[in-house]
Amino acid sequence: MNGPDSIAAGLADVRRRIAEATARAGRNPQDVELVAVAKTHPQSAVEQALAAGQRVFGENRVQEAMAKYPPLRAAGHEFALHLIGPLQTNKVREAVATFDAIQTLDRSKLAAALAAEMAKTGRRPRLFVQVNTGAEPQKAGVLPEATDAFIAECRERHGLAIEGLMCIPPADEPAAPHFALLREIARRNSLAGLSMGMSGDFETAVALGATHVRVGSAIFGTRG
Ligand SMILES: *Cc1c(COP(=O)(O)O)cnc(C)c1O
Repeated sequence: MNGPDSIAAGLADVRRRIAEATARAGRNPQDVELVAVAKTHPQSAVEQALAAGQRVFGENRVQEAMAKYPPLRAAGHEFALHLIGPLQTNKVREAVATFDAIQTLDRSKLAAALAAEMAKTGRRPRLFVQVNTGAEPQKAGVLPEATDAFIAECRERHGLAIEGLMCIPPADEPAAPHFALLREIARRNSLAGLSMGMSGDFETAVALGATHVRVGSAIFGTRG
C-alpha cells in the first residue's frame, strides 16, 4: 500500500490525467467522476484519500465496505460509496443500507430484490447495469444482446431508475472497442451514465465518454 504522501500524489496525478484526457476530448472535467477503488486497502488509506479531498469511493465486497466506511461516516466524513463487485441477493439489505450507488445490477432476481428493499427502506442507491461486453463465461454482467430487454425489465417491471451502464473489458484485449460498445448500448437506451476505465485504461475511457472511472492501484498502490 502507498503511504499518505503517495496516496495524495497518486490522486493528484490521476486527477491531472483525467483533466488532460477531457481537454483532448473537448469534454468538461466535471463530467467525469473519479471513483477511488480502495478494496483490500485499510480504512487509514481511505482517510488519507479523504484528507486529499477525494469524496467518491468504490468497493467490491459488501462485507469489507461495512467494516470500513460506517465508522468514517460516524466520524462526520461525507462521501459517496459505490459497489463495483458482484452482489448476492442475500446481501441486498446490507448493500442498500451501505452503498450510494450499485454498479453491478445484472439479473432479474437481483432487480426484484433491490426494488423490494428500496421500497421498504426508502433508500435509493443509484443503479448501473453491468454489461459483460466480452461475453466472458466467468464474468458477471448481462450479455450485450440481452441488455436492452434487461433495462426495459428493470424500468417497467421493477420500477427502477437506471442511471447508466458499467463494464470490465477482458484483461487480454484492447479496451476501446468494449468502451465504444457500452456507449452505444447506453445511447440507444437513453442512459447518461457510463462507468468504464480502470488504472490501465481510464484515459481511453474518458475519450470514449466515461462519466465514471474506477481507479484503484494508480491511487493506492498495488494490492497485496
Ligand atoms: C479492482 C477494480 C477496479 C480498479 O482496478 P485498478 O486496476 O486497480 O484501477 C475497477 N473496477 C472494478 C470492477 C474492480 O474490481
